[in-house]
Order: sequence, then structure tokens, then C-alpha cells
Amino acid sequence: LGPTVCVGEILVEIVATTVGDGFLEAQPLVGPFASGAPAIFISQCGRLGGKAAMVGAVGDDDFGRVNTDRLKRDGVDVSTISIDPDYPTGSAFVRYRKDGSRDFVYNIATSAAARFGWSQPVGDLIHRSGHLHVMGSALSVPSAREVIDKAVDIVKARGGTLSVDPNIRKELKLDENTKRRFSKLVAAADLLLPSGEELERAAGVEGEADAIRRLFEVGVKEIVLKRGAEGATYFGRDGDRIDAPAFVVQEVDPTGAGDCFGGAYLTCRRLGMSPQQALTYASAAGARNVTVLGPMEGAGTQQELDAFIASTERRP
Ligand code: ADP
Repeated sequence: LGPTVCVGEILVEIVATTVGDGFLEAQPLVGPFASGAPAIFISQCGRLGGKAAMVGAVGDDDFGRVNTDRLKRDGVDVSTISIDPDYPTGSAFVRYRKDGSRDFVYNIATSAAARFGWSQPVGDLIHRSGHLHVMGSALSVPSAREVIDKAVDIVKARGGTLSVDPNIRKELKLDENTKRRFSKLVAAADLLLPSGEELERAAGVEGEADAIRRLFEVGVKEIVLKRGAEGATYFGRDGDRIDAPAFVVQEVDPTGAGDCFGGAYLTCRRLGMSPQQALTYASAAGARNVTVLGPMEGAGTQQELDAFIASTERRP
């Protein structure tokens, strides 16, 4: 029915190579790496050979070209990534602490990523797309919100499907309007891809089983819960449940696991695979990506994921 389209922020990430507290002291950094959760998702879709297109904006600078060149190489249609003449490409600096947590410095609010809007080429793409993927976090960016509202209605009206990653950080205080939009988006999702406690937040109900039940009641068709190194679980409307154990890997950089997982799961399902088969590829995509520094540097082609699956043990 047409390509998978992802709408949202595109940025570069610059990552510390040492572990320590915050950014108050000089330290070696590597990057820029192509990044932005929606960009990671669509990169993984493209790498797996699914038809994929990205809607967003970069500045007229090398950080922007790092992203568009990368996505193009992955097979993603980048013609609807606009180039903002006035604002730079967004950036994020990341440093890891000993306890596994991360410190971020973001330059996104005043970047091209926060300013893109609807245009003729975006409209044309949405009118021929078969699937839309949306991140909950985009709802707090006014320009992205406008594009998403319109795109969801158009894609659904022409029989396309919607996947939602409700990645709204719990620290983020949502106003009533954003909460309403979020609930509406979740209810329209054919596929919901929450990780950890986002499941209960998306459902507005405590307890895993009750949250799942509520989400199916409001209209969600399929749910895949991501549990980091603990694996993932598929829930179907008919009561089906499939637990997918995680692959055993040495984690180097956790950024992007969930987006690679989601991009792989969705693409495999759109290519006609069963939930079980899609879960295997998705688990491999998430696990492989954490073994490499950089948010999407470990995203894999089908051949790379097949090799990874054949050579990597899974947790019992
Ligand atoms: P998110 O980035 O959205 O929080 P997760 O961290 O849960 O998502 O990662 C998504 C999936 O990637 C997991 O369900 C798992 O299959 C895989 N994964 C993530 N981290 C690891 C890890 N350290 N070891 C093995 N697999 C992992």
C-alpha cells in the first residue's frame, strides 16, 4: 500500500568515550553520528529492505548531510527531509555514568528539527504512504504535532496503518491538550511499541495485564512490550502472548535499541512475517545495535541480522 513514513526529529549525537559525571570537564568525544529516535527507526526499516521515507528537517550544514547521506545509503527516501536555511541541524551530547545512566545536553528546541511543517511534497508522500510511525514525544513539538495530526487522519482514511512508540519521558509534564492528543494517538495505533512503564502510562492503568486489556478495549490491534536486556513480549487481541528472550550481548551503547527493535518488527510484519518471526528479527536488531557505539551504527540488514541470529545465544 505504499512506504512506511516516519515523522519527527533528526539530529546528530556526539558521544563521550569515557565514563564519568556530567560535562563539567573536558573529555574525548566521538561523532557526529546520525540520530533522532524517528531517524533511527526509519534507518532500520530501510536497511531491512522495506520501502521507507522520512519527514523532518535539517539545517544547511554538515550535521544535516551526515543524516541525509546516511538515511539515503540505508535506502530511505529523503526527499521530504527539508533543509532549513536559517536554523542548524539539532544536536545532542551524551555522556555515560558508572551506574549506566546518561547525561544529555540537547540543542533541539532552536534547531531545524523543531521548525518543519506541512508542505506539498509531504502531503504527496502521506497520500501515497501505507504506514505511519509516530513517537509520543513529537506531540510536545508544535510543528511536528500539526504534521502528525493531518498525517494520521489521511493514512487511516486510505486504509493504511499506524504504529506508535509512546516514548514520553515520565519527567515530561503534559498539558491537558497534549494528554488528549496522546490518548487519541494511542487508541488509533494498529501497533503499539511501549518500553517498560510506558505501557501503563499509555493505558492510564496500573498493572501489566490490566494495561494490556484496556489498550485493546480502546482499539489498539497489536502490542509489543520492550523490556531491554530482559527481552520483549508480543500481545495479540485474541489473547495470544509470545515471549521473546533477549540475545546475550556486551552492551556498549544502549541508545537506539528500542527504535531498531521497532523498525525491524514493523518492517518484518509489513513484509508478511508472523509475529514470532518478526520478534526474532526485532530482538536481534535491538541487541545488535547496543553492541556498537552510536545511536544507529548497529542497525542491520537482513543478511547481517541472519548472521547475528545464527551466531548469538539467547537468554534461557
Ligand atoms: P527502548 O530503547 O525503547 O527503551 P529497550 O531498551 O527495551 O527499548 O530495547 C528494545 C529491545 O532491544 C529489547 O526488547 C531487547 O530485545 C533488545 N535489547 C535492548 N537492550 C539489550 C541488551 N542489553 N541485550 C540484549 N538485547 C537488548
